[in-house]
Parts: sequence; structure tokens; C-alpha cells
Amino acid sequence: MQGDKRYWTFDHIRKVALKHFLWIMIAWWTGGAWVLYFDDAPTLVKELATFQAPFIAYLWIGILTATTYVFAGHAREQMCIYMCPWPRIQAALTDESALNVTYRRDRGEPRMSVKKAEAARAHGDFAGDCVDCHQCINVCPTGVDIRHGIQLGCIQCGLCIDACDNVMREIGRPKGLIGYDTDINMQRRRDGKPPIYRIVRARTLIYTAAIAIVGTIMVYTLATRATMDVNVLHERNPLFVQLSDGGVRNDYTVRILNKGAQRSFAIEVSGLPGANIRVAGVEVAPDGKPVVEVGQDQTREVRLSVQVGPADLPKSSRDLEVAITDTASGGRASARDHFLPGDK
Ligand code: SF4
Ligand code: SF4
Repeated sequence: MQGDKRYWTFDHIRKVALKHFLWIMIAWWTGGAWVLYFDDAPTLVKELATFQAPFIAYLWIGILTATTYVFAGHAREQMCIYMCPWPRIQAALTDESALNVTYRRDRGEPRMSVKKAEAARAHGDFAGDCVDCHQCINVCPTGVDIRHGIQLGCIQCGLCIDACDNVMREIGRPKGLIGYDTDINMQRRRDGKPPIYRIVRARTLIYTAAIAIVGTIMVYTLATRATMDVNVLHERNPLFVQLSDGGVRNDYTVRILNKGAQRSFAIEVSGLPGANIRVAGVEVAPDGKPVVEVGQDQTREVRLSVQVGPADLPKSSRDLEVAITDTASGGRASARDHFLPGDK
């Protein structure tokens, strides 16, 4: 009670503070850690620990930690009921032959206490097996009363099945008052017919085909995905450098992505006759191409300078292609940018 003086004791405040601190730590660990999916994780962890990571990384860790703390710590089942798309998808996929967590109404109603049920049965009246103990509601993580039928809040976790089975065991009645069942079977039992289970039907065949197609596309995409890529960004300040011999130099930031084992990439530029290229701080192959080594599953940025003498200078901006070639496998990736000939 917040009005109770005992509520504000040091011990109570300490416990509440500790609880929320632990929640925030769990939110940081489970939510904030998502940021690691979007960069080289070991490198980013090191940068975060030494406060050298980009500001955007800290910002997103803060946002994801805060949203996880609020959603999982405070909103809880409201997330399942009002925000999660799964119940809507599930409702659209299900039909009267689908196996769902079901309260077997035909067996459970009319619900009444054990004593009243015994008395009713002694008079030859029908008494349902549900004793209205609310155990199925108490254990439900989203607070659903499954006895009202399938609802959007139900996440099909099955906890109510176990809770009800325990109750049935204690009062000596058969288990399965709540279980996986279909609407059709409830109706068939009411009509005195045996239950049927139609697993193979048009709906399940279509779903299976859809999942198989999507799964095949995903496996194919994974198997044939590019393991290398390159991005090129033209230097903005300055856009070009006028050289003393009349030539012009443009600089670029080249970012090489290596999604495979450690390997070397040769850089070349095409589309600009007479161009000389240079990459600071890397070796040059016998054919004159700069060779950049990139570690396993890493990216590396290098500065590429493209220089054109006065005789070969284009009259206007010229498109060029920067390509990288895996020196071992011959695999190739490229990106386009442009060369500015300066003030002509
Ligand atoms: S746990 Fe079983 S017996 Fe108890 S209220 Fe739920 S359905 Fe009825
Ligand atoms: S299956 Fe889980 S979510 Fe659904 S009613 Fe039972 S306990 Fe609640």
C-alpha cells in the first residue's frame, strides 16, 4: 500500500530499486544487444567498452533497452493482446478443423463444485467436470479465460492444459478437460459421434506449399548470397585537387565487405582512360593494382586516389567503376561513382 508508512522503509525502497535495476540490466542484455547484429560484433563491443563507438550505437542501445524495459517489464501481456501481430495471423489461419488449445465445453458444462456435481449426479442430472477453480486463468500469461473459447490473447502456450490436468487428477476425474481439440469434434461429441482429425485438408496443403516455397527461396538465397561487396563514397571536401602539372586528382572512400574467410582484394578503376590509382598504406601487385587484405567477416575502409594527367582529362564529369577482385577465387564486385575534372 503506497499510503502505508511501511511502504517507504529503506529496505522496501532498496528492494524496489534493485528489482528495477535488474530489469534494466536484463533489458540491456536482451534488447540493447540487438545493435550487435548490425555491425561487426567483437569490434563494436570493444569500441563500446572504450567509448569509441559511434553515437548512433549508444543511442540505439538506449532506445532498445528502454523499450524492452517498458514493454517486457511493465506492459507485459498487453503487448501480446494489443501489439503482437501473431494472434491476428493465427486467427486468420485457423478453422473449425484446426487443433487449438480448447476447453471441452461439452464435457465441462454446466460447471459446479465437486459437492454439487456429486449431488446432481446422484439425482441423475448431468454435471460438467469444470469445478470453476480458475486455475486455468491464474496460470495464463495473458489472463485469458479459455472457457470462453478461442481468443486473440491466447498464445497457445498450453499452461492452462497442465493446470487443469492437475486439478482433474486431484479430484479424481479424467485429464483433458482442456486440451488440443477442434470445434468440429466438440460438435460431433454433442451429436454422439466419434471425434475425427483431418490433418490433411486443402488449407494445410496450401500452407505447407507456401512454407516450402518460402523456405526454398531462403535456402537458395543463403546458398548463393554474395560473400563480398564494395561501396564507394566520393570525397566531398575537396571534391577534386588541381595538380601542379595540370592534372586532377579525386579521392574516394572505398569500403570493402568480406563475408567469408580472410582474403585479399585487388582494386581497379575502369571507365576513365589514362587514370592512375593509388591506395594509401597497401601493397601493390606486379600488375600495378593495389591489393587490400580484409579479415574474416570484416569490413575495411581505404582511401582511393584517382589521378588523371592533363592530356587525358575528360571535359566534364565522367562515370567510373571501382571494382574489387578476390585474388584467390577471381570473384568480383563493383560500385559506380564519378570523376570530376576540376575547373576547366
Ligand atoms: S482449471 Fe479446469 S476445472 Fe478449473 S476452472 Fe479451469 S477448466 Fe475449470
Ligand atoms: S494456451 Fe496459454 S495463453 Fe492460451 S489460454 Fe491457455 S494458458 Fe492462456
